[in-house]
Amino acid sequence: MKLTGILGGTFDPVHYGHLRPALEIMQALQLEQVRFLPNNEPPHRAAPFLDKDTRCQLVELAIADVPGFELDQRELLRAGPSYMVDTLAELKKDYPDQGLCLIMGMDAFGGFTRWHRWQSILELCHLVIATRPGVPIPDFAADQPLIDAAMAGDAAALSRSQQGQILLQSVTLLDISATRIRQCLLSGQSIRYLVPEPVREQLENRYAI
Ligand code: ATP
Repeated sequence: MKLTGILGGTFDPVHYGHLRPALEIMQALQLEQVRFLPNNEPPHRAAPFLDKDTRCQLVELAIADVPGFELDQRELLRAGPSYMVDTLAELKKDYPDQGLCLIMGMDAFGGFTRWHRWQSILELCHLVIATRPGVPIPDFAADQPLIDAAMAGDAAALSRSQQGQILLQSVTLLDISATRIRQCLLSGQSIRYLVPEPVREQLENRYAI
């Protein structure tokens, strides 16, 4: 079965910690594509630092020449908060014959069972968890048995069904976060080598670095 990767995030801004794991997961799981979905109004956190047009434009710049990487603006075009369960239901209609693989870092996985209708999410897609430096495998307390039951033994398990499996995928560990990039920009320090060059140029210009 064909698989499509979905990488949601605030991308405030996009950086190599998003891009390199996404590429490695695309290659390891032989995904048809990875769709980058910038959030509109993230339900779980404070308003983003960069406006949505800029976040979106920087993702576009970052993935411009990468075959298989696509920008998906559906959450930005929808009014109100973006719940992943609604987004996935829409994507399922667009790609009815494919298995959707929702990609997230280990930190985001830690909060997964607090997401709106998380069990319905597992009925719509697989989860692919990218290991992240310093972030241990979370403890899901009362939800642990459900999470354990969904754990996939290997990548091949994801091609055998359209949804419901959770795969922990080790990727090159890059200790880069958008938080750190924002701190650099605000303190006048270069963000070179943390983000693709076109992203760096635009942001350093804007912050007169
Ligand atoms: P912030 O520092 O603002 O919290 P972030 O760098 O974590 O942002 P997001 O846009 O919130 O970036 O992340 C989108 C997705 O990418 C999340 O699933 C997150 O776990 C994952 N991710 C972000 N940075 C990394 C990294 N360095 N390695 C692996 N996954 C990452």
